Amino acid sequence: MIELPEATTLAQQINLSLVGKSIQAAIAAQSPHKFAWYNGDPADYPAILEDANLQSARGLGMYVEITLSNGFLLFNDGVNLRFHPTAGPIPAKHQLLINFSDGTSLSASVAMYGGVVCWEKSATYDNTYYQTALSKPSPLTNAFDFAYFQSLIAPPNVQKLPLKAVLATEQRIPGLGNGCLQDILWVAQLHPRRKLNTLAEDEVRRLFSSTKDTLKAMTEQGGRSTEKDLYGQAGGYQVHMSAVTNGKPCPRCGAEIKKEAYLGGSIYTCPNCQKL
Ligand SMILES: [Zn+2]
Repeated sequence: MIELPEATTLAQQINLSLVGKSIQAAIAAQSPHKFAWYNGDPADYPAILEDANLQSARGLGMYVEITLSNGFLLFNDGVNLRFHPTAGPIPAKHQLLINFSDGTSLSASVAMYGGVVCWEKSATYDNTYYQTALSKPSPLTNAFDFAYFQSLIAPPNVQKLPLKAVLATEQRIPGLGNGCLQDILWVAQLHPRRKLNTLAEDEVRRLFSSTKDTLKAMTEQGGRSTEKDLYGQAGGYQVHMSAVTNGKPCPRCGAEIKKEAYLGGSIYTCPNCQKL
């Protein structure tokens, strides 16, 4: 699943390689998918997309947002975005295929679930998750400082939560999900089950620094190694805590990395570095 580092990386790649391209044809919802959602009727997408120019892209929380000359395209965390140079293969199943006038194309395929959203410039996309991502400062910016982090975690109902719920639910930090969470907590040497209100002040500082530094490292290295970029290549940030490293030695202390189910997903921890 795309999270902030991958959304930002995909947007950077789109800005480098796709800006200025003109859309010749668009095919939406060709492959039926139970859990792919669109904005209105996808049959209306070609009319919006055809003849539009691609102007810019940005990562916005878990979203990749593309600005076109006459509208917007928005892809969320469950969508695989791939650029196809002329000779490249195109996935058999896709929820949106954009053919550019130079013969290249961009495909969007939904894996388990995901949104492929398009709207005209004169309209707005009134979606709570998107509006939240627009309104909150990104952890990659200076606006996300310690004072802001403290305000985010101050409410008594947040203080009662375990760290996994604090960081990776309710879009408290847009784009930070269960994937990035694992390394953020491992770097901070904190357990996902620890309640926020049990943390000492230096632990809160560590949590803040790790949130910013780890997301920054993941972004600067082109996303996590467990995810793919616009060209289908794995990201350059080697994930320490994931299904891939489960059962292997912790890179810090050598203890065996443990997997357990917690709050609707797996958590990977080092029993030595991340004590409860
Ligand atoms: Zn360890």
